[in-house]
Amino acid sequence: MIREVKRIGDPVLRKKAKKVEKITRDVLKLIDDMLETMHHHNGVGLAAPQIGIPQRMFVVEMEHNDEIPGSGITYALINPELLRTDGALLTGAEGCLSIPGWRGDVERPTKAIIKGQDRHGNRIKVEVEGGIARAMLHELDHLDGVLYIDKLTAPDRIWQVDEAAVGVPAE
Ligand code: ZN
Repeated sequence: MIREVKRIGDPVLRKKAKKVEKITRDVLKLIDDMLETMHHHNGVGLAAPQIGIPQRMFVVEMEHNDEIPGSGITYALINPELLRTDGALLTGAEGCLSIPGWRGDVERPTKAIIKGQDRHGNRIKVEVEGGIARAMLHELDHLDGVLYIDKLTAPDRIWQVDEAAVGVPAE
């Protein structure tokens, strides 16, 4: 089911999301809905608070591209925790499905190691880089009520885009 994406100004986006205590059928349904909602909006990531559910989970998926490691994989992480970042800091444009029509530059580490649970409750650890690392760090921030506009490399580095034509996907 495609869910309504909450927009900036909705208090749920500023809440610290709670741990998922048990992976129930409802939680799995929620993950399916998050994926469907993300696909509907051509996004590359979505965190549960963005559909009004203040719980710690996110999905990330990028269309397969030989040059982007981790692309073509559907990630769904429950109770994700950042273990470590690595690599150079890189400034790159980001967009957010909760702030449609805008993009801004944010500096992020190029690699991230994140642990969490998959939809079967297995403990997993993912090592990601590039665009996937950027998307996951963006989603982790959502779980703590942080938006990318809080971290712009310069306050004036935000610009309006035509969402239908834009090259940088939102997350
Ligand atoms: Zn976002």
